[in-house]
Amino acid sequence: MATKVLIVGAGPVGLTLAAELHRFGLEVRIIDKQSTPSPQSRALFLWSRTLEQLDRLYLSGEMVALGRKIRAVNVMAGHSRIGHIGFGGTDTPYPFALLLPQAQTERLLIEHLAARGVFVERGTELTGFEDSPLGVTVQLRRETGESGQITTDWLVGADGAGSFVRRALGLSSTGAALQSDWLIADGTLEGADLPADELLSFWHEDGFLGLFPLDGGQYRVIAEIPHGEGAQAITPDLAGMQSRLETRGPGGLRLVAPSWFSSFRIHERNMAEYRLGHVFLAGDAAHVFNPVGAQGLNMGIQDAVNLAWKLALVAAGTANAEALLESYTAERHVAAAQVVADTGRAEAVALLRSPTLRLARNLLGGLFFGLSPLRKSVAESLAQLSTGYGQSPLNGPAAAPVPGPQPGERMPPRANEPPIGARGPRFALFADPSRPVLALHQEFAAMLEPTLRPPPKSGGVWLVRPDGYVAACGADDELTRLADYLRRFQTLGELVG
Ligand SMILES: Cc1cc2nc3c(=O)[nH]c(=O)nc-3n(C[C@H](O)[C@H](O)[C@H](O)COP(=O)(O)OP(=O)(O)OC[C@H]3O[C@@H](n4cnc5c(N)ncnc54)[C@H](O)[C@@H]3O)c2cc1C
Repeated sequence: MATKVLIVGAGPVGLTLAAELHRFGLEVRIIDKQSTPSPQSRALFLWSRTLEQLDRLYLSGEMVALGRKIRAVNVMAGHSRIGHIGFGGTDTPYPFALLLPQAQTERLLIEHLAARGVFVERGTELTGFEDSPLGVTVQLRRETGESGQITTDWLVGADGAGSFVRRALGLSSTGAALQSDWLIADGTLEGADLPADELLSFWHEDGFLGLFPLDGGQYRVIAEIPHGEGAQAITPDLAGMQSRLETRGPGGLRLVAPSWFSSFRIHERNMAEYRLGHVFLAGDAAHVFNPVGAQGLNMGIQDAVNLAWKLALVAAGTANAEALLESYTAERHVAAAQVVADTGRAEAVALLRSPTLRLARNLLGGLFFGLSPLRKSVAESLAQLSTGYGQSPLNGPAAAPVPGPQPGERMPPRANEPPIGARGPRFALFADPSRPVLALHQEFAAMLEPTLRPPPKSGGVWLVRPDGYVAACGADDELTRLADYLRRFQTLGELVG
């Protein structure tokens, strides 16, 4: 029998996708060419929206217990604090950034899958594939030297920044190919009197410097080397890091006994298409960001959540395959383009070389970050709470404007309610239980969660997708429009045509 979905790559993105697809009842295989998981901490931050989504796997509680809550980001220029962005005012059960090393995130996902009988096939490399109208024929090579061929309905390349799948598809990327090198070290910072639950992000004309508190009084220090310094890869060394700490930081800090030292090069990119035929890209295979905003891993997990329910509905035959699967690129490419634009703007402001412009930036930055709505907006954007799909071809009507989240926007999760989509790839209906609402609920029982949820504002009805974004909404006397939406959703060709 053909595998339904073959996932290439057991990084955080491939693992999340495997967990989502498995709980939606699809037959899934996940392979990785490495024989063991990577022990490196790499990405450190899980943002609020990621924790909301991983709640559907009931993993967020354990992650929060293991990680460190970060309450605010300080934007600094030398000694001066330009801005203090707190996460406390955001409308989420997770009003903080969670500092959890990537190896731990991956371990929890691997254990979650293993407990459900899904095991990563390690030492197994994808070496080729061919797509056809009937599915994908895939060549695999094991580290023991054997090779073989399998067929799969869908192939997902979650195989990282150097993705084999992306290169084999020959798709193009959009935007400037920005390149920068980064030095990264975990160690003790002598002379540091820094808050244990806040990040420091230093803006300097030579490049960004970040100081992140780790457990046991340790810090992660990360310094950008803009690519103007030459094509040679940067060699990680203590003296180089110390000199950047002195020039860009608050002064008086000394990095000692680093337990981990590394350097890496980023080629920022966002693929124009995340899908060709039966083959998809997700995570770093689809997009790589400048690490300034620490969005890479989190965006990849959102790709997995976005794709999983669509594949599940198409596999179940409840939705028009082509239009639903096409919406994956339409939604996730645009979300990634927004991150590229935001980090590009932040980078341009951070690296200002003119002393006059820098002075103006520091003064205006103080004013900007002094305004609480603007601070909140930056916090929501970093936490990916304001990321949505306002332009999605899947959006239905917001007939009479009802106060509350609009089509394409996130429906904020509420305490004491199961996460949307936790019980399968079903839409949630938020409405007061009137007779017409109950009739609608019954008519579309196969597509809807079994229980109605209270609406965010009485007098309105919200239909929410399995990934927690509003599909359609309206006043409660406009139910026929929602019924039309659900009917047309089953034949999505009409909806997007
Ligand atoms: C040093 C470093 C520091 C970083 N710091 C941050 C940070 O602070 N914040 C942040 O958000 N991001 C950071 N990142 C980026 C972050 O780690 C990535 O965004 C994240 O790992 C992407 O996950 P992924 O699952 O898409 O890909 P990956 O984690 O790269 O996983 C891809 C997997 O695919 C496997 N694979 C590749 N090719 C094949 C093949 N042909 N067959 C089978 N398997 C294959 C690989 O072995 C790998 O396990 C950092 C990265 C590095 C290297």
